[in-house]
Amino acid sequence: MIPVRGFDGATVAVLGLGRSGLTAARALAAGGAQVIGWDDGESGRAAAEADGIALRDLSKPGAFEGVACLVTSPGIPHLYPVPHPAIAAAMAEGVPVDNDIGLFFRSFATGEWDRFDVAPKVVAVTGSNGKSTTSALIHHILTEAGREAQLAGNIGRGVLDIEPAGDGGVVVLELSSYQTDLARALTPDVAVFTNLSPDHLDRHGGYGGYFAAKRRLFAEGGPDRAVIGVDEPEGRYLAGQMAEGPGDDLVIRVSSGQKLTGAGWTVFARKGFLAEWRKGRQVASVDLRDIPGLPGAHNHQNACAAYAACRTLGLGPKEIERAFRSFAGLPHRSQRIAEAGGVVYVNDSKATNVDSAAKALAAFSGIRWICGGLEKEGGLEGLQSGLANVVKAYVIGREAEGFAMRLGTGVEAEVCGTMERAVARAVEEAQPGEVVLLAPAAASFDQYDSFEKRGEDFAARVKAALG
Ligand code: ADP
Repeated sequence: MIPVRGFDGATVAVLGLGRSGLTAARALAAGGAQVIGWDDGESGRAAAEADGIALRDLSKPGAFEGVACLVTSPGIPHLYPVPHPAIAAAMAEGVPVDNDIGLFFRSFATGEWDRFDVAPKVVAVTGSNGKSTTSALIHHILTEAGREAQLAGNIGRGVLDIEPAGDGGVVVLELSSYQTDLARALTPDVAVFTNLSPDHLDRHGGYGGYFAAKRRLFAEGGPDRAVIGVDEPEGRYLAGQMAEGPGDDLVIRVSSGQKLTGAGWTVFARKGFLAEWRKGRQVASVDLRDIPGLPGAHNHQNACAAYAACRTLGLGPKEIERAFRSFAGLPHRSQRIAEAGGVVYVNDSKATNVDSAAKALAAFSGIRWICGGLEKEGGLEGLQSGLANVVKAYVIGREAEGFAMRLGTGVEAEVCGTMERAVARAVEEAQPGEVVLLAPAAASFDQYDSFEKRGEDFAARVKAALG
């Protein structure tokens, strides 16, 4: 645990008593704060009471009297579409609002570090897609290279739950836009921006607000190194803003598809090969074509970002390449779950938006595609480019019929409704050499509690169908 500093003897309120809220409460108490907590749900309050945390309804008038800070959880709206009443009250009273990420950055460095040969570092990863894969890959590469590394944030442990860093240790953080939007301190040593596409726009007041939330990771503390995906205009803009000049070493530009050969430091993947360029010449190349844990151009983008981050930490191209080969991938992200009769079964249940599903469709060919669920804003237009690889779509979800219709006439689509039926039909019809791919392009909440549950259901039904 990382005890939170700066609140010794002060009263701090914690709103939202799920995993990150409870951890924050414990870490605050460990740093000497008086913690009061609240959760609108019964189970959160019960968990807090079991933990000895005093409860106070923070939406009641006067609740913030004597409170030094309000710490809130990422799932609770703090501005858009409307602030939670307790957050609105704190803001009206002038009480600072922070989250566990802000508390982490103010508390991570300790006096102990004076005795270390190499100061610990924090690598923070944000972006619309590929954050988890990139963070897990950086963590894997560092571990394989024998470096002390911890994975935390949206993936792995809660940030305040990790061990204090040792000599030369690295903490890899995956940060969502909700987290970067609110954190009062954001000072990573290396900041990574994977890419940008529309998501969670209701929580950020539109696309500009969403980008601004992610950009805070670069603007607030000014990282020593910035690894920036430049395949969208926002990434190019950010890279331009961070760089001191065309040839500096502060920014590493990353691309999947474009050749980047300017005077600066770049890492890009084209036709399955990763290339690193520095000061106008190529310094390394890695063949990514048959690395099982990183299929498709989207994963090559993640590989480039992870490679660049690890290069800034002093690792060599060869040791990074070796670690790529032993990376198993993450569950529910382009995850190969079975192969039978020449047909490969892939679970990409995490493709909850159109952009990530389009990337999964581009990574394979001869696809029997299981899709559908709770559609996000923006329509299905973005899927068109991937449809050429689809043999047939098997549509699930409560609105399966509408979803199938909106796919358009460019693809044969069968309305299946349930996962059970979709898997049965795809298994029945798949030919050797084809891929049965779950990449829904939609959220899971119409039929499941989470994308993980949806992916597990897919895997279980495939297993049953294959006998
Ligand atoms: P995040 O943590 O940002 O949601 P994940 O690594 O969990 O990212 O991947 C989320 C989804 O996006 C998966 O469906 C995955 O296959 C897809 N994906 C992964 N990397 C990328 C990328 N670089 N660009 C677009 N889609 C990606």
